[in-house]
Amino acid sequence: MASQWAPLPPVKTGIRGLCPWCGRGHLFEGFLTLKPKCDVCGLDYRFADPAGGPAFFVICFTCVPAVAVACWIEVAFTPSPWMHLFTSLPLTLLACLLPLRPLKG
Ligand SMILES: [Zn+2]
Repeated sequence: MASQWAPLPPVKTGIRGLCPWCGRGHLFEGFLTLKPKCDVCGLDYRFADPAGGPAFFVICFTCVPAVAVACWIEVAFTPSPWMHLFTSLPLTLLACLLPLRPLKG
């Protein structure tokens, strides 16, 4: 018997925030809090905590374009400052927060 569990593609389990070993336990406790171990197979997650790494990539590759879009809105529509509050700000926040969890996983 080679392995107790079927081999799982790490990208697939990572994006869904699932245990890389059994694919059933959940990696996260809250939104971005890594559990100490898998609640299904007991795999220790501490070895895999990527800490601030993914956040750095998210900031570089999504927040920069989001700010660029905000600048484009400014140039294209010349909105009043309060318009930015409802367009650019949520857009920037979403672009930063949405990919963070799948990337960390
Ligand atoms: Zn597991």
